[in-house]
Amino acid sequence: MECPICGSEDIEILNSKQKSSKKKIVEELLLKCNDCQHVFKDTFSAKKPKPYRIIISENEDSIKTTIDLSPDDTLEVGDVLLSEVGQVMVSAIETKEKRVGKSKIEDIVTIWASSIEIPVRIGFSVDLHGEVDSYKLDLDRDFQISTEDIVKIDKHIVKIHVIKTIERKITSGFAKADVIKRVYGRPIRFNNYDYDLTKYIVKKT
Ligand SMILES: [Zn+2]
Repeated sequence: MECPICGSEDIEILNSKQKSSKKKIVEELLLKCNDCQHVFKDTFSAKKPKPYRIIISENEDSIKTTIDLSPDDTLEVGDVLLSEVGQVMVSAIETKEKRVGKSKIEDIVTIWASSIEIPVRIGFSVDLHGEVDSYKLDLDRDFQISTEDIVKIDKHIVKIHVIKTIERKITSGFAKADVIKRVYGRPIRFNNYDYDLTKYIVKKT
């Protein structure tokens, strides 16, 4: 937005009025240039939000619903939307012709997304020299696990030596729960630990 007289971008909004018709929202602004004091009007219009089909996955379930979006906006894989089940991240976009990474919203037929509010489920294996105690844990997406961490899980105190993520196997480093598939640890004779994962166990297999 710039002043039509002097080109300055130092513009003050004196007044704004919103009008809405069936298909459009029109905003009328009364503006003042802070450099040359010129007062002028400008209008902005945008198409009204419309419902779009969205399929949201939550762990093993999927929910088919709709979400209201502005046809004029652009949507991209990785964008976060607020849906009726909370925040979701766009994982795929389908237009009439094909799947795309990015699209103008009015061309979209279906949006696929996954919930980013629910905890993530990861596996945890305790290597008992030939046998394995295996657990499923529900953790916050931000929960950070490092190799060398010493943790309590159930009756074991273990040192983590491998973290398997969606993309790779980490033998030195850390990862957040939302990319972790499984963590591997070995029992150690220790009474102290960095943190206790026992309360996050949802299943022992
Ligand atoms: Zn001006």
